[in-house]
Amino acid sequence: MNWITNYVRPRINSIFSRREVPENLWQKCDECGTMLFHRELAENQNVCTQCDHHMAITPRERFNHLFDGGIFTEVAVPAPKEDPLHFRDQKKYPERMRAAQKKTGEKEAMLVAKGEIGRTPIVAAAQDFSFMGGSMGMYVGNAIIAAAQEAVKLKRPLILFSAAGGARMQEGILSLMQMPRTTVAVEMLKEANLPYIVVLTHPTTGGVTASYAMLGDVHISEPNALICFAGPRVIEQTIREKLPDGFQRAEYLLDHGMLDRVTKRTEMRDELITITRMLMNQPPAIKGDLPAPTPDETAKVAQAEETGKNEHQDI
Ligand SMILES: [Zn+2]
Repeated sequence: MNWITNYVRPRINSIFSRREVPENLWQKCDECGTMLFHRELAENQNVCTQCDHHMAITPRERFNHLFDGGIFTEVAVPAPKEDPLHFRDQKKYPERMRAAQKKTGEKEAMLVAKGEIGRTPIVAAAQDFSFMGGSMGMYVGNAIIAAAQEAVKLKRPLILFSAAGGARMQEGILSLMQMPRTTVAVEMLKEANLPYIVVLTHPTTGGVTASYAMLGDVHISEPNALICFAGPRVIEQTIREKLPDGFQRAEYLLDHGMLDRVTKRTEMRDELITITRMLMNQPPAIKGDLPAPTPDETAKVAQAEETGKNEHQDI
């Protein structure tokens, strides 16, 4: 026994064994309360395996499931001027930004990428609700414009996943200006005859619903997503009337003609492949590999060819 075995080795072991155990192995479903194993939950794209409740998913995780083999290239977004209004509430705006960047590991509230889905090349943009409520500021505006320009340049459809609490109040009027800017970006796609598909996720509200999230050629939503301009509480207080059950939820909006489809997250990729291929005039995707011919059939074909040749020779 010496200093190394008595002191150094236990210290090293304790450091490494601590790292091996992740802090949150289990996550509780907000809807049914089931404890879900983190790996199982991630494999199921953050959808509860018991009650199908759709939990939040980051744009990066979403893209890992969306693109073929999880392979995609990020599209660069020009950085806007930082804190143009020198806004301050309880904290300074740059401080809030840094906290959000640290929490999410992302630069801003939208991620733009290009890649293939079912061998169809696309450009995709996804909004991150965990980054300051996915709020639409100048960066989000720039991201949508960059995505639309990339789609037009490469002649690819654009698929956008929306999730937002509305405009970013720290940027005041400049955030509201993103509504006409993004509308022009969508117009660019339409002029180039390229499909623009919007997948609305929980929650999509405020200025986002009033601009690019409602301008798609096809609108698909995840189940039970809240989609509105003003929230149900505000409406209830204004009109002083009880609102119907499920008001402003995806299924309610589907019934009232605001959406084309409500699709589970786990089935979304296949649905998007079908829609993009259809709109891009491509044949339907082949699911899985084509079945290999059985030995019997190959033998028959070879035999038929052989007899065919013989017959030909006879003639
Ligand atoms: Zn559940």
